[in-house]
Amino acid sequence: MSLSWTIGEPIKDEKAPSGPIEERWDTRRFQAKLVNPANKRKLTVIVVGTGLAGGSAAATLGELGYKVKSFCYQDSPRRAHSIAAQGGINAAKNYRGDGDSIHRLFYDTVKGGDFRARESNVYRLAQVSVNIIDQAVAQGVPFAREYGGLLDTRSFGGAQVSRTFYARGQTGQQLLLGAYQALERQIAAGTVEMHTRHEMLELVISDGRARGVVVRDLVTGEVETHLADAVVLATGGYGNVFFLSTNAKGCNTTAIWRAHQRGAMFANPCYTQIHPTCIPVSGEYQSKLTLMSESLRNDGRVWVPQRTGDDRTPADIPEDERDYYLERIYPAFGNLVPRDIASRAAKNVCDEGRGVGPGGLGVYLDFADAIARLGREAVEKKYGNLFEMYERITGENPYETPMRIYPAVHYTMGGLWVDYDLQSTIPGLFVIGEANFSDHGANRLGASALMQGLADGYFVLPTTLGDYLAGAGGFGEVDATEVAQAEAAVQEKIDRLLAVNGTRTADSYHRELGRLMWDYCGMERTDESLRKALERIPELREEFWNNVKVPGDGEGLNQALERAGRVADFFDLAELMCLDALHRTESCGGHFRAESQDADGEALRDDEHFAYVAAWEWGPEGPILHKEQLEYEYVKMTQRSYK
Ligand SMILES: Cc1cc2nc3c(=O)[nH]c(=O)nc-3n(C[C@H](O)[C@H](O)[C@H](O)COP(=O)(O)OP(=O)(O)OC[C@H]3O[C@@H](n4cnc5c(N)ncnc54)[C@H](O)[C@@H]3O)c2cc1C
Repeated sequence: MSLSWTIGEPIKDEKAPSGPIEERWDTRRFQAKLVNPANKRKLTVIVVGTGLAGGSAAATLGELGYKVKSFCYQDSPRRAHSIAAQGGINAAKNYRGDGDSIHRLFYDTVKGGDFRARESNVYRLAQVSVNIIDQAVAQGVPFAREYGGLLDTRSFGGAQVSRTFYARGQTGQQLLLGAYQALERQIAAGTVEMHTRHEMLELVISDGRARGVVVRDLVTGEVETHLADAVVLATGGYGNVFFLSTNAKGCNTTAIWRAHQRGAMFANPCYTQIHPTCIPVSGEYQSKLTLMSESLRNDGRVWVPQRTGDDRTPADIPEDERDYYLERIYPAFGNLVPRDIASRAAKNVCDEGRGVGPGGLGVYLDFADAIARLGREAVEKKYGNLFEMYERITGENPYETPMRIYPAVHYTMGGLWVDYDLQSTIPGLFVIGEANFSDHGANRLGASALMQGLADGYFVLPTTLGDYLAGAGGFGEVDATEVAQAEAAVQEKIDRLLAVNGTRTADSYHRELGRLMWDYCGMERTDESLRKALERIPELREEFWNNVKVPGDGEGLNQALERAGRVADFFDLAELMCLDALHRTESCGGHFRAESQDADGEALRDDEHFAYVAAWEWGPEGPILHKEQLEYEYVKMTQRSYK
């Protein structure tokens, strides 16, 4: 293992006020300094990313009167990965009167995250959740409604109430269209300057503060610098380090990784969410996995044959020879246990030889009962587009035969460390949405990512960023040497990639790295597997830098060059993920260390030694670990149980 690391000073979130938890966000908002309207016009903010987090932030900051520069690498802001979100968004509205409350959403989220998230942040998230629904409805987002016209909800994993608002299986798309039209309005009003097809490749820091970004125009190849008074990264998650994931193909780590290399700490990089309901891998050629929304577990029942090696068709397996294992093991939550639990349970039954479909890596998600109970039309109304997607991909009709599903990489709870104000360890660099680590602990509950991204963008950042801008004491000129150095670093990396002229594509390295990560740092990790990964990653990276083939040049559109840059960053990130996973010898949430399990095979936390956020600092001699101790005043840390 080549990577050595050291322990640094503890780190603390200094921004969350003390006092009763339900008053903390109000207190912070009241304490926050304000920028007067005339001064807002003089301040420029860069927002990188136009998904739900970045789109909502840029639109809101523009509306507030700041000058905003917005960047994304797609050809339109509304093509951000958020558009893929299917199932829904949580909010503690309690429209159903089924016992929900802000406190319950807070509690479920802290517990769902296996007690590895900050109480103050999560409580605020639950409070703000109710405003998000009002905001989206006011924008015209077509949430599903009941017959009487009231907003409908459904259930998601890890909750016993029905608090998930949805727009069929297209919730992300509809929410993004809402944020996008708010953004377009500001673009038309001249407060937001939009730069599509621009990829951020470096952060500019001057006088210790984030003051700009270096981007590459993906069409002309030109490297440009844009300066501002603060920078917001809303660049999404890094699940594609595993190559195969449910993320859009473009999702990557470059923006946050390069900010990390410039001083922003990276928190809990090993916390990866493996989603239980994805279409199983079907062959070596595949480059993408498809999610079947968790909402399907409202009505679908998960099962495998009781007998190992039973290869009869599902219709030929009688009821009493089926094992509805989630309902059996977790009677209280049944098919709606959280994702980490459902994923591991699927893996366990497949490891026992009871998996279904090619290779035995699959379990059934069966709608026969739901169709008998509700009728096909009702099921079609709720899930029609998902069923159609499934049939198009697999050629099987899920109305007639159960879906086959298997866990796949889906979301990354880790990300850049931020305080309660969503500010990273670099002053003036704010990080929102999936790109930060903030609210989900070691396991995110379904329908909570959209809630967090929009809470950050519409409600939290506009307040806390104002406080920074008002209190920063004036912004001087940006140091020209810093700009020159950042631009040179970008150009040097591009030139280096183009100069290798080897024999293997960046994609083929990415596939190999992803396989290695899945095998050694995936659903289950061990000391041995992680050490193997930490041996192999540097070798593979060296091979990449000596043998990658990037055709074409840097003077114009060159997607091979874009991909190679992203893969290069994935190598470095992968190493930190494995190191983080190696040092955390407990199991918690999505991080399952095989050595740390209880008698029932459930994740066994070690609160005495690991109740902290691991915030890693980039150091020339290797990473430095700073621990942020987690304290629980309102929720009692217990062994998580969904039985
Ligand atoms: C298939 C699928 C279904 C999901 N369903 C749900 C659901 O039902 N409910 C839920 O709560 N969550 C769901 N999630 C999770 C959720 O969709 C994401 O966590 C969330 O949308 C992330 O939003 P974001 O704004 O942080 O980032 P993204 O939407 O990923 O946006 C990232 C933005 O950053 C830009 N960007 C990135 N890097 C750069 C760079 N270097 N330079 C310039 N621009 C850059 C991109 O262009 C893009 O605009 C789902 C995820 C998947 C994969």
